[in-house]
Amino acid sequence: KRENLDLRVSILGSTGSIGTQALEVIDDLKGIKNIHVIGISGNKNIRLLEEQARKYHPKLVAVPNEDDAKQLKISLADTSVEVVSGSEGLSMVSADSDVDMVLSAIVGFAGLVPTMQAIKCGKDIALANKETLVTAGNLFMEAIAENNVRLLPVDSEHSAIFQSMLAGNHREVKKILLTASGGPFFGKTRTELVNVTKSDALKHPNWDMGAKITIDSATLMNKGLEVIEAKWLFGVDIDDIEVVVHRESIIHSMVEFCDNSIIGQMSLPSMKHPIQYAFTYPERLPSADMQVNFKELGKMTFYEPDRKTFRCLDLAEKAGKIGGTMPTIINAANEAAVNGFLNGKVKFLEIAEIAESAMSEFSSIQNPSLNDIIETDREVRETICQRF
Ligand code: NAD
Ligand code: MG
Repeated sequence: KRENLDLRVSILGSTGSIGTQALEVIDDLKGIKNIHVIGISGNKNIRLLEEQARKYHPKLVAVPNEDDAKQLKISLADTSVEVVSGSEGLSMVSADSDVDMVLSAIVGFAGLVPTMQAIKCGKDIALANKETLVTAGNLFMEAIAENNVRLLPVDSEHSAIFQSMLAGNHREVKKILLTASGGPFFGKTRTELVNVTKSDALKHPNWDMGAKITIDSATLMNKGLEVIEAKWLFGVDIDDIEVVVHRESIIHSMVEFCDNSIIGQMSLPSMKHPIQYAFTYPERLPSADMQVNFKELGKMTFYEPDRKTFRCLDLAEKAGKIGGTMPTIINAANEAAVNGFLNGKVKFLEIAEIAESAMSEFSSIQNPSLNDIIETDREVRETICQRF
């Protein structure tokens, strides 16, 4: 492995919330650590991809759609950037021989195959896409070990746990305290949530994120998915992961050790912190981000999550305990339901109902192959989408 040299990265999902912030981190680190962007990928935001390609001079730009690729090829004709398309194009961005690390920041199940591809090609992974670990945790962690690559969590809670874990060893860990902001509907009753709209749900108090994860934060499905993510990343039982609502999002998560010491990581809620740490690990480098001002903050508050109102948390934990393809089933149902909610076809509280009914309609396959997982995802998504 190349050590202490410039880092060469591909960013899967460079046009998204995480992707664009990662590029800002790369700008911020210029002169401190040079990070070269070898590949980028997006979906429909062709104009932003063109702009990014012109600024960062990657070797490769990937888009799913053939026609979008054609259009992008024309607009980048005066550059040396190669435009590639489809799943093969995404694989090329993951697998390019010049790439050291792949930032997996596509949203949802679509990120799974290209991320697995990157691992198999020996790339270190900076993982924002939690859905990959939720749906294929077992295969994913096996591939990480087999290919001897680094896995750096970018999800803020998991980055915090990763950093806190450095204070002890695995045997000394008693439990993980996974913090949750509570989302925009903290304190609301089910009756108050019946008619909430997309724009109500998209108003997150502390974080500015992509639409899907913002809705997941409002239902607490995001926290449920993060419990499963933590189980795989840190090799702990779901029963040893406790969700704590912490409204201010300053403590990004904590680890409780056997001597009752609790170690946590604090910073202002900005994804640039975990993104930068994933890029610079094991080093810490100066950050352009703001620092916590405790005197201004005054207090930090903690609550039990309201599992009766926000049922997705229990459902996801249950799916995680059942294992096999059950997490794929709940994830696919949730992605379909969230799309439906964003299109005005599904009501807020129905998201949990859809997830729950999928869990009872589909049975879990134990020890699934990647194909089983892909097939399950497709089948569940199709079945759910037919209903609205
Ligand atoms: P986003 O919607 O802002 O961006 C998603 C990216 O994926 C875009 O670049 C988009 O073009 C691309 N994309 C979408 N569908 C695609 C498809 N079918 N094929 C190829 N590319 C596709 O999402 P985001 O908020 O940046 O989240 C990305 C991932 O990071 C998610 O898994 C999310 O859970 C995780 N995450 C995000 C945050 C955050 O603050 N945004 C925090 C923690 C974890
Ligand atoms: Mg998170």
